[in-house]
Order: sequence, then structure tokens, then C-alpha cells
Amino acid sequence: MFDNAHWAWPAVALAFLLGVLGMRWLYQRFGLGKKQAVNADYFKGLNFLLNEETDKAIESFIKALEVDNDTVELHLALGGLFRRKGQVDRATRLHQNLIARPNLTERQRFEAIYELAQDYYKVGWLDRAEGLFDELKSSETFHAAAVNGLCAIYQQEKEWQQAIDILNEHKRSDRPQYLKQVSHYYCELADIAIENLDFDMAHAYLKKSANEVNNNSRTVLLKGELAYQQGKYQQAIDYWQQLHNSSSGAQQLVAGKIIKSFQEAGDLEGLTKHLNSTASIPKRGQDFRAWYDALVHVFGEADAETHILKRVESEGLSGPVASHLHHAVNADMVSQLSMSGLLKELLNRAKSRKIEYTCSGCGFDTKSLYWYCQNCGEWESFR
Ligand SMILES: [Zn+2]
Repeated sequence: MFDNAHWAWPAVALAFLLGVLGMRWLYQRFGLGKKQAVNADYFKGLNFLLNEETDKAIESFIKALEVDNDTVELHLALGGLFRRKGQVDRATRLHQNLIARPNLTERQRFEAIYELAQDYYKVGWLDRAEGLFDELKSSETFHAAAVNGLCAIYQQEKEWQQAIDILNEHKRSDRPQYLKQVSHYYCELADIAIENLDFDMAHAYLKKSANEVNNNSRTVLLKGELAYQQGKYQQAIDYWQQLHNSSSGAQQLVAGKIIKSFQEAGDLEGLTKHLNSTASIPKRGQDFRAWYDALVHVFGEADAETHILKRVESEGLSGPVASHLHHAVNADMVSQLSMSGLLKELLNRAKSRKIEYTCSGCGFDTKSLYWYCQNCGEWESFR
């Protein structure tokens, strides 16, 4: 991975030092402050910096800062940098020291609390982070950030109702950007209710979810699930077919479910119509088997193979169907005519392929081979 830490640290430390010294110089030049020698720790820090002992340099600068109140902003910037670089214990120590200082302005104090709350969150000290975010809610400047911080904690703890409640504390004008999030939290609650067979509760949550976002796919998916669990198969099919027709991603999500519902309902006519319609080949192994079994049940084995070959011609191959055909060819279940037709079609598809190489670091697809992945910064990662 490309890491810019090796040049960033000295640069930050140097900027920090220049800031401190510059401030000091101004104070002395114009007699603004008490006369004071430049702290020995600055020079120690500078020395370490020149010897490229960046860690020690930063420690010295932090010590130097403890006797100087003009550099709180630099202190905060440094702490934030520590956290982003994963040195959270250092960031925590720095922010705790800062908060303990009695002469901070209110704004500086809140800023330090906000930083410390993020340190705690990052290391998973959620109850401490929660306490600090709670305290921050009273600050007008940090109110929105505190609400989002609390929401992130509740989300991590899967306390969905609390997450919803806290997002409702956002200013009315800010609320629209959280509708989708709230809608998904209601879906989480509905999911749990369905699992507990608490259908009334599930229904109520899904209604609330739909109130937040009108056409959330997940809400529709769960409405189908709720109907299915209640034995209302036709209703479940209606919801899922609505999703099925909306996008190919959603189609894969409900491919197996729709087939199962028709079977549970004993609706062979509906199933036949569904299989003959635009339903595409399921890509998940389990769904593929349900689809294949239904094809055999409805059309018989030989016609099922013909049906699959026709579908492959228009849709191409995914893992499960390729493995099925491989097996069928080996077992001599596919005619020579079909095989040559299939081969022609597959060659035709491969001819105009857009993807030849995939980065093993991040999954980035390209047509040409590169030594370096622009997306994730990995070298020699294309296979
Ligand atoms: Zn990559």
C-alpha cells in the first residue's frame, strides 16, 4: 500500500515547531507576553527531527506544548493526525491532557471533547464515547456531530430504536438526509420482529420504514417476507415480483423466494408462467438449484436442459449454471447441435469482453494489464 506517513510526519512536526517558535518570536519581539526562554523541549524536538527520530520529536513537542497555551489548535491537529494514523493511545493521552487544562475557551474545550470521543469510539470504548457525545449535545457547534457520533454507537450496538430516536434530534432542516438511514433502521427492527413471529410489530415497523422512504427495496423485500411467514403466498409473490421487475440486482435477491412461494401455494400455472417469463438464471447456488428443480418439475428433464441453454445464450454464464452444464455435458445429456450452438454464442460473447484483468487487492477490473493499481495502490496485483 502507498503510505505517505514517512514524509508527512516530519512535515507536520516541522510546521508545528515553526508555529510554536513563530508565535514565541512575535510575543518577545513586541513584548506581548512575559519574558520567557524558548523551552528546551523545542530544541530537543528539533534535534530529534533532524536525526529523523520522528516519534521522539513529536513526544518532545507535546511536552513543550504543555507549558504553552497559544498552540491548542496545533495540538488538536496533531491529535487528530495520531488517531488517523492508528496511534489512538497517543491521541487519547494528548486530548485528555488538553481537556484537563483549566484555561481553554469553551469552543476549544468542546473541540477537545469531540476529538477524545472519536478516540474512544475508534478503540471500541463505546460507553465512554457515548458519555462525551452526550455532553457535546449541549454545544450548538457540535450538536449535529454529537448526534451522528451517538447514532454510530447505537448502530454498532444494534440498538436500532435508540439510533432512530437520536437521529430525530437533528434539526428539522437537517433531517431529510437521514431518511434512508432511519428507513433501514426500521427494516432492521421489522426483520427481528419477523424472526420472533411478532407479525403485528413487524407490520408497524415496515409501515414506518415506508413512511421515511417511499420505495426502499428492502422494505418491499421484508413486506414479502412478512406475508410469506403468515402463509399469504400470493401477497408475498406480488411484493417480490414488484422487486423482481425493478432491477437485476433485486431479481437475484428474490429469485429463489418467488419459486418457493409458488410451490408453497401449489400454483403450478403461476410458476410455469414465471419460469417462462423474464426470470433470469439465479446466480446463487441454492437459488439455482431451486430454479433447476422447478424447471424439471414443470417441463421435464429434457426440456429443462433446452430451456437452460436458451437462457445461457441470452444471459451468459455464472458459476452455478456453468457447473451444471459442465456436469450435463460430461453425462452426455446435451446434444451435439446444442453444444455447438452454445459454443458459438459463448465465443461471440468472449470476443467483445470488457474485462480481462482483475486487481487481487481491490477487485478493480480492466481490459489491459497494469503493473500498478490506480484504485488501491497495489503493485503487480492484476491477475
Ligand atoms: Zn486494486
